[in-house]
Amino acid sequence: MPKKPFVDFRDIRSRITMEQVLEHYGVLHTFKRTGDRLSGPCPIHGGTNPSQFRVDTEKNVWNCFSECKHGGNTLDFIARKENVSIHDAAIKACEWFNIPLDEVKTNGQSAPEAEDHTSPEPKARSTPAAAAKPNGGRPQGQSEDNTPNPPLKFKLEKLNGSHPYFEERGISQETVIDFGLGYFTGDKGLMVGRIVIPITNVKGEVVAYAGRWPGTPPNADTPKYKLPTGFRKGLELFNLDRAVKEPADKPLVVVEGFFDAIKLHQNGWRKVVALMGSTMTTAQEELIRQHTNSAGHVVVMLDEDDAGRTGREDVAARLSKVCYVKIHVFDRPDMQPEHLTAEDVKQLFQ
Ligand SMILES: [Zn+2]
Repeated sequence: MPKKPFVDFRDIRSRITMEQVLEHYGVLHTFKRTGDRLSGPCPIHGGTNPSQFRVDTEKNVWNCFSECKHGGNTLDFIARKENVSIHDAAIKACEWFNIPLDEVKTNGQSAPEAEDHTSPEPKARSTPAAAAKPNGGRPQGQSEDNTPNPPLKFKLEKLNGSHPYFEERGISQETVIDFGLGYFTGDKGLMVGRIVIPITNVKGEVVAYAGRWPGTPPNADTPKYKLPTGFRKGLELFNLDRAVKEPADKPLVVVEGFFDAIKLHQNGWRKVVALMGSTMTTAQEELIRQHTNSAGHVVVMLDEDDAGRTGREDVAARLSKVCYVKIHVFDRPDMQPEHLTAEDVKQLFQ
């Protein structure tokens, strides 16, 4: 029996506002209101810049663009402020705001329906989780043609590394430079108006550029990601060239998306590769095999959603023939490696 009751996070969240939470901490008066936005110094890291921390009082979400480089909902805020789990934050919220536990208790093993993504950029909830991924959750690159993707003979110019999207997504300038990221300011080609992510082979040669729409695409005809026709993503592992430079005895972390890998790298764990989807092709499996010995250690860290949960079982089963494999399970739904803070990463791998 758990000591504390399981509670429905979503239900609790629907009963409290960010303003109430800020008021509880006695800091609401330090914020400036513009329409349904509040901005002020960050109450979490104790900053002073009056524009570093922003709240959307309609959606009840917050973001610290400064030191925390993180955002979330009311419960995420309490969890950070109190340095406790989301579950404990939810229990505290019930106490502080007089929410009867009986009304929000659940019987399940976990709080169902909780939707605690903390990404500054909300995922479209109407689409299946897999659809938000670069490959739309389709099996990828399973064709017989395993001729390597040839290195590109050109380099994209006109990249703006200080586009606001990077700051919104918590990506530092150092990371932008490390990964060669940038907003394409040219007016021709596939990458127009997109954030460009170079995909390299194990030698570090660029084999393709992926183009990420900066934010939520305006309509269904605008894909979140674009990849050049003819490029076979299933033959590559994003970030492999950097990951193989890390010590052999360090665990290799396998994630789904570009930004999961990029953020883990930024947060101190550089031995990470991304499948660019929630499934692993045989070519990707072979790449991992080539760069891992039997004493090696792999951590499968896919998103905590349906596609990720299905994918990770398969990835782990196949890689366990090669080396020691551990599945990382996040303690709350919809978590992605991208959402981990530097502190989280430190604790995970200490
Ligand atoms: Zn902060």
